[in-house]
Amino acid sequence: MRRPLVAGNWKMHGTRQSVEHLLSGLSKLEFSDQVDLMIAPPALFMQQCREALVGSPIRLGGQSCAYQAEPGALTGEISPAQLRDAGCEYVLVGHSERRSLFGETDEIVCRKFAAALACGLRPVLCVGETREQRDAGQTADVVGRQLQVVLDAFGVGGLAQGVVAYEPVWAIGTGLTASPDQAQEVHAMIRARFAMLDDEQAQCVQIVYGGSVKADNAESLFAMPDIDGGLVGGASLNAEEFGAIARAAGRA
Ligand code: PEP
Repeated sequence: MRRPLVAGNWKMHGTRQSVEHLLSGLSKLEFSDQVDLMIAPPALFMQQCREALVGSPIRLGGQSCAYQAEPGALTGEISPAQLRDAGCEYVLVGHSERRSLFGETDEIVCRKFAAALACGLRPVLCVGETREQRDAGQTADVVGRQLQVVLDAFGVGGLAQGVVAYEPVWAIGTGLTASPDQAQEVHAMIRARFAMLDDEQAQCVQIVYGGSVKADNAESLFAMPDIDGGLVGGASLNAEEFGAIARAAGRA
């Protein structure tokens, strides 16, 4: 039985003051113990979040990490070992903004996935197609290719140690959400691909959906059999919204 995960990606938002306000809102919420919860704040606020979330079920995650675990001359990067040391349990790898704006290739994303696993983090592997790719009927190919590099290196068992986030690029930050049927179709395709390699492990992989998830669409998305929660951007900056999305995951 897979547990749902609701993860908040705060992206490059927040000041110490606004983060304090958001954390205070989060600390007042009650969460189901049947749902895994995570927030990925900007790294600058990790310590602030860690201190405020003592005793909370909300875990911490990085938004990205370096492609190597060892310390080194990588100016501006944060290693997965440093994230772990800072209290993180998760890290996003291959978010579409990292792929499109920072040139991260499937190979780099796979190295990040490997480095994260080596440090005891759960990598959240983000995959998804652009609008043009969807319109051209290439969704399965694009998502399949993004997954294959990690599958070749780690197998389904490796992915089961992390999380897969299906995030259609056209739905991220646009207010356009994939319909529950559209999302379920891709999630089922991903799971079927895993099942061809290892059916038992395939049933264990958490596959979450991301792309304009909000309190008012979360329930119908999470009701789908292969959608195991959500990766939430904009709506995770509001404690009430995040709480409502987490409650929807608890009812699914
Ligand atoms: C994201 O950043 O991963 C995301 C899904 O953002 P939003 O919920 O704002 O679309």
